[in-house]
Amino acid sequence: MPTVYIGLGSNLNNPIYQIKKALRILATIPTVSLKKYSSLYRSKAVGPKNQPDYINSVAVLSVKLSPFQLLKKLQTIEIERGRTRTGKRWQARILDLDILMYDNKQLQSSNLILPHPELYNRMFVLQPLYECVPDLILPNGQQLQDLIRI
Ligand code: AMP
Repeated sequence: MPTVYIGLGSNLNNPIYQIKKALRILATIPTVSLKKYSSLYRSKAVGPKNQPDYINSVAVLSVKLSPFQLLKKLQTIEIERGRTRTGKRWQARILDLDILMYDNKQLQSSNLILPHPELYNRMFVLQPLYECVPDLILPNGQQLQDLIRI
């Protein structure tokens, strides 16, 4: 079964609770096996500064879903948790679930890009990913540990 890395983020409505709840929901999906998850990390919001800090985590899953089926599932969870989309970038959010990697798949479509386009740039994703899989080799061949700033 493909191994998938998911980035979780929240900065509204008790973010710590939101991330823990999302992990519990992921663990109940029959086509998903939750293998591991990181501890919780705090990060400054990207974009407008007048919003609360984010709580982030990374989960490692095995899935029996295609990348598009998984994206749909994650978006359903975001909506069920009360997320609304205004269309604005970088808005505060109750829950954000991103597919960071789906095995080493490379994909560019209108609604799904793999690996996630910001994977290599965001320390709030790389750090928890490193906690889960310190020896991970990224889809571009780079060692994850080489991207971690101590
Ligand atoms: P965001 O506002 O960060 O939740 O971005 C949402 C949009 O990014 C969605 O409409 C997705 O279709 C799109 N998207 C593209 N690639 C990915 C990915 N790897 N994981 C999650 N969403 C993605």
